[in-house]
Amino acid sequence: MIQFSLFKPRKTLPLTPLPAKETLEDIFHSLNQRYFSGSVDAAIRWGRYGHRKKRVRRRTIRLGAYFFQSRVIRIHPVLAQDWIPRPVLETVIHHEMCHAAAPTQQRGCRRRHHHEEFQRLESNFEHHEWTQSWLKENLGRILDTLVSSRKRDSG
Ligand SMILES: [Zn+2]
Repeated sequence: MIQFSLFKPRKTLPLTPLPAKETLEDIFHSLNQRYFSGSVDAAIRWGRYGHRKKRVRRRTIRLGAYFFQSRVIRIHPVLAQDWIPRPVLETVIHHEMCHAAAPTQQRGCRRRHHHEEFQRLESNFEHHEWTQSWLKENLGRILDTLVSSRKRDSG
């Protein structure tokens, strides 16, 4: 296993190591102070890369998630790469914090996650517009690193 990976030619740069857990929490705390008056009570951690054997390039990726019951925010580790602009990581964290601050609304049998109040909170983020378009423009590149990291892990 070790030998194999030593001699295996690398076609892509290896992912940079994840920042320390404190880094993610530091961003959370500064966003919390700046946009929510410190009111968001949630834990935050990096998610893990999946272990699916498939090497098919995916078309979507869930960059963040908020688990309402456990009050945990999970951020996808693709966002730990150093070519991802810091405000882009921040906007994903901020989005999940908005879920904590403006919970899902239930109207009859319809659940609304991104309702008006949510959108109002989300648009407060200073870099909201350009980070959203950056994510759209770079989705392909993000998905590519997902495939290459899987190949690296399973090879
Ligand atoms: Zn959402």
